[in-house]
Amino acid sequence: MKYYSTNKQAPYASLEDAVVKGLASDKGLYMPESIKSIDKEVIADLKNKSFHEIACIVAQAFFGEDIEPEILNEIVKDTLAFETPVINVHDNIYSLELFHGPTLAFKDVGARFMARLLGFFIKKEGLKQVNVLVATSGDTGSAVANGFLGVPGIHVYVLYPKGKVSPIQECQFTTLGQNITALEIDGTFDDCQALVKSAFMDEELNQHMKLTSANSINVARFLPQSFYYFNAYAQLDRIGKADELVVSVPSGNFGNITAGIFAYWMGLPIKRFIAANNRNDVFLEYLQTGIYTPRPSVPTIANAMDVGNPSNFARILDLFGSKENPHQAICELISGYRFTDEEIGETMKQTYKQTGYILDPHGACGYQALVENQLTANETGVFLETAHPAKFKGTVDHILDADIEIPEKLKAFMQGEKQSIELSKEFEGFKQYLMQQ
Ligand SMILES: *Cc1c(COP(=O)(O)O)cnc(C)c1O
Repeated sequence: MKYYSTNKQAPYASLEDAVVKGLASDKGLYMPESIKSIDKEVIADLKNKSFHEIACIVAQAFFGEDIEPEILNEIVKDTLAFETPVINVHDNIYSLELFHGPTLAFKDVGARFMARLLGFFIKKEGLKQVNVLVATSGDTGSAVANGFLGVPGIHVYVLYPKGKVSPIQECQFTTLGQNITALEIDGTFDDCQALVKSAFMDEELNQHMKLTSANSINVARFLPQSFYYFNAYAQLDRIGKADELVVSVPSGNFGNITAGIFAYWMGLPIKRFIAANNRNDVFLEYLQTGIYTPRPSVPTIANAMDVGNPSNFARILDLFGSKENPHQAICELISGYRFTDEEIGETMKQTYKQTGYILDPHGACGYQALVENQLTANETGVFLETAHPAKFKGTVDHILDADIEIPEKLKAFMQGEKQSIELSKEFEGFKQYLMQQ
């Protein structure tokens, strides 16, 4: 499969190049040249298959031209050593729990897949060490660090803002050691991201070491996220609830929802999507006005969605670019909602009181969007519960006036010893550090 850039000014890339480079040379995002459909009969039969079998079918459609089936199936098996169950919250609303992986957030799926695929290419081609730079406000760093832990030929540098990630999140990427280095930056998340961007553009540094990115711009992290949409469909089909699916996705960089739209493009019968935002609502504004105006993010209690310029917006536009009226076509498939911190808190409190279900602040946006959307009697609503509520224990306990339990997996991280290297937000110091590695 060839991959083109959404900016159309870069040469086509192989899968391997697209994964190793991350971003195309014209700063566009890579897109597969074609998206294969999955036959209706295969979709009707998904209900009889395991998550692993379902994911192999989807992985085959994306990567089958480039990787032998046995190897691909092995990568998928390693990636999905956990389930993504669909849980009924009440009436016709279901939670797709994506937080049963090692760091309790949906990003585990993409991060683990990318680590294994990149590891495979490095071994096959005998590439010299690849260095993954990742800036994080919390969840991405932990998923990437844990996904890549111990993979030969790869070193990961996690840049995070000192004092601005929750203690639970911090220990998920600072206690690992081995091929993971945590860089504690005296600055904000935006400073961390700026350092990573400068590093990718610095010629001297790029001659010294091979650098790539592991956020959702990378096709290897982004595409596998469509696996669990197929799995959700299969689970709901089993109970006769899959005919008119409305899928609500708490969105920040829009990687997750775009992977869902890829699933739809491949023939998965989803009736429509909802993009649920916190106060960072440039996408909702685009739906309402047809004009896209990126702006700096504002901090909220659903902080993994604090994104003012969602990178995967370029992929959505590209997908609909051939339609006569792309904006109208996008509005027909996707609707948008935004929620303030107060509304998120109110949703979490009411849902806990009325149903006993504990939402995290991100999932709460997805859930509330379904409630306000007023589903018809035949529609089934599914929201993606993107993180375990205990990852945001301080916020959740405060809002619910509770003391929620911390899963064993998280406790294990909390016993490790923190190791990090402190750096200022100046690029020169960061560059010098990397040049010595
Ligand atoms: C990353 C993240 C999101 C946003 O996902 P995107 O793919 O960036 O839209 C939502 N919720 C949680 C918990 C996350 O970690």
